[in-house]
Amino acid sequence: MASYEDMLMNNGAVLESDYLACSGMDEPHEAYFGAVAPPIIQTSLFAQKDYQQYCDDMLQETRRYIYSRGLNPTVRMAEEKLARLEGGEEARCFASGMGAIGAVMIGYLNRGDHILLVNQVYGPAVELVKSLAQKYDVEYDIIPDGDLLNIACKIKPNTRMIYTESPGSMTMRVVDLRAIAELAARHNIITAIDNTWPTPLFQKPLSLGFDIVIHSCTKYLAGHSDILAGVVITRSSLMGPIRDFSHQLLGAVLAPFSAWLLLRGLRTLPVRMQAHQHNAIKVIDWLRRRDDVENIRHPYLASTAEKEIIQRQMSGFSGLFSFELKNADFEKVKGFIDACRVFKIGPSWGGYESLIISPNRGYNQAALDESGVSRGLIRLSVGQEPAEVLINDLEAAFQASGAASR
Ligand SMILES: *Cc1c(COP(=O)(O)O)cnc(C)c1O
Repeated sequence: MASYEDMLMNNGAVLESDYLACSGMDEPHEAYFGAVAPPIIQTSLFAQKDYQQYCDDMLQETRRYIYSRGLNPTVRMAEEKLARLEGGEEARCFASGMGAIGAVMIGYLNRGDHILLVNQVYGPAVELVKSLAQKYDVEYDIIPDGDLLNIACKIKPNTRMIYTESPGSMTMRVVDLRAIAELAARHNIITAIDNTWPTPLFQKPLSLGFDIVIHSCTKYLAGHSDILAGVVITRSSLMGPIRDFSHQLLGAVLAPFSAWLLLRGLRTLPVRMQAHQHNAIKVIDWLRRRDDVENIRHPYLASTAEKEIIQRQMSGFSGLFSFELKNADFEKVKGFIDACRVFKIGPSWGGYESLIISPNRGYNQAALDESGVSRGLIRLSVGQEPAEVLINDLEAAFQASGAASR
């Protein structure tokens, strides 16, 4: 792994093999006339050579080209590429990131199982677990940080899965993935991680002992804010419930055209990620010198203890982070966001365009206060525009909104 300083100097260290996988070195170009862009196999079904062939193939419906819910060549190509990038044996793509998260939770959790949600986990994933608790008696505990003792204390005989995100949603806190994987392995617990923020270029949880990796490919992997997609990656011996149940029977699979756009997005993933890191650090360095801003949350500004973990498990940073406007109420947040011209207002992240949003929606002050979220919290997804343009946009927003301290 790269040293922390190298990681910063080089805008993230990307493995040569990852560059080659993204650029298509291992694709079977000769199978489609040498075309460097793969074809889109836009079909729902595959006509069979003869009836015996069909009968035989039906024994392996998810491994033969029979019907695109089971297997489609364009989708398979994206799956193979994502599996390679994560260092996993198999991948299955879904119609969205939540589709992938749902596939994992419903695929592996049985009635009465216990799941631990470690570190700040994506909100809808927590909502899903709460629904499973109501409908199927799934038990859960939420551990808001990665403290190993806290995790160990919450492990029960029926604990089936530890589910985490690092860096965590909103807090951007980093947790020690290898230590969590080792603890889980001692108790025979499945470990799953949403690796959307760092992408496989900058963090490979399977190599740290995690069992399952999930991505919302909607974000950086596709990278152009034009599709929804998700993926689950794991070893073949653990893929059964995903392949045969969640993918084949729940059926929210990825469409061939979306898979093709995902493949196209992956072509430029290394250069995009390095641009996101470069721009984000420029913007953060500018923000941290302002005295009208506090609590910038990005692993770049991690504590010394966190930096040690980062150095062991990450090789670069992405461009999603948050900060707080000092002494802000809803009006100030609204004024600041509306004054931005380059940063567009919207949820999601990981595209070429810079985005701004706040959890403060005016009518939810009490809920924010209760959950300890600052009223002035702003989240930025730093895109591909020149860093100076982004900084000028924010400077103008500080001035126009009166958020700037004079
Ligand atoms: C967006 C997101 C998801 C959900 O992905 P969709 O493609 O929107 O369903 C899951 N996890 C994280 C961290 C996300 O940001």
